[in-house]
Amino acid sequence: MPLHLSTLPTILLARNALARLPEFTPPAARTLLVYNGAQPDIPHAAVFRQRGEPTVNDIDAALQVARESRCDFVIGLGGGSAIDAAKAAAGLLANGGMASDYMEVVGKGQKITQAAVPWIAIPTTAGTGAEVTRNAVIGWPEKKFKASIRSELLTAKAALIDPQLAVDVPHDVTARSGMDALCQCIEAYVSNGASAFTDAIAIKGIELAARYLARACDDGHDLEAREGMATAALLSGIALTNAGLGAVHGFAAPLGANFPIPHGVACGVLLPHVIAANRRRGVTKYDDIDRTLGADAAETCAGLVHQLNLPRLASFGVRTQDVPAMVDLAKRASSMRYNPVVLDDATLADVLTQSL
Ligand SMILES: [Zn+2]
Repeated sequence: MPLHLSTLPTILLARNALARLPEFTPPAARTLLVYNGAQPDIPHAAVFRQRGEPTVNDIDAALQVARESRCDFVIGLGGGSAIDAAKAAAGLLANGGMASDYMEVVGKGQKITQAAVPWIAIPTTAGTGAEVTRNAVIGWPEKKFKASIRSELLTAKAALIDPQLAVDVPHDVTARSGMDALCQCIEAYVSNGASAFTDAIAIKGIELAARYLARACDDGHDLEAREGMATAALLSGIALTNAGLGAVHGFAAPLGANFPIPHGVACGVLLPHVIAANRRRGVTKYDDIDRTLGADAAETCAGLVHQLNLPRLASFGVRTQDVPAMVDLAKRASSMRYNPVVLDDATLADVLTQSL
């Protein structure tokens, strides 16, 4: 199993990590603050509030704000959406141009050649692991597609992960973010890009998410559970960056671009069906996951989806007649090529139909 380990930010995961932000901020920084949720009390030269998951238009708007204030430092504080928007803005501040120039699959796919301006990721939800990944997932409404701007040069300077920031995150956001972390660890573990290194990271993330996700949802102030989920999310980000994902994330890209489905919901609902389909095609690595969970992987994930009350895809307007178009788009998504086996169109259609 060959290994190519990507650059990681300096990572600080601790209760009260936020208090150490000044150590990581250059003294004369002109900061662009990108956030979602409530506006934090952090000094900034310019501010951009990310609403919902970022689109190419959001990134261009954030860039305009940052360029007008000649920002040379970026802080992303919030869920994965705010972190990814900050990541793309930091990258494009250094590289010039606009978001569509650098988008994979649907954009011009221009290469990032300059290191992003220094930026700090401060996640408030435990899910995407965006604080340590090198890609920013961005929607392009006109193209009805979500894709990434990706480069090792986009890596944050530091990730400050403070589990206390998550205590007021509501149940539904905790549930779907946590399902994303669990899903990312499972997909990275069975991915055809996996290595011994990513296996070790991913299996620990699976163990932590299985132990703490329901607890964090039941009692948001359970700091041990919040810490466990923050760690699972971090591990999921390191695993996916170095191993790739799979069919769940392949589907999540077009579903999220065409329907108002939060990313973690799409991932959670699809996960048990993708596991079952891959297993039927002879993927045996799920046996290790069964052992870690002490139960069948697909059944455990389906049980969590039910217990956490994740809505079905049909409740977002996905209908049976949408399945063929979504299958076509999912096959083009960058994550799909890391699925451990090639799933044919009929199998992909089955997986999606079962998730409606
Ligand atoms: Zn994800």
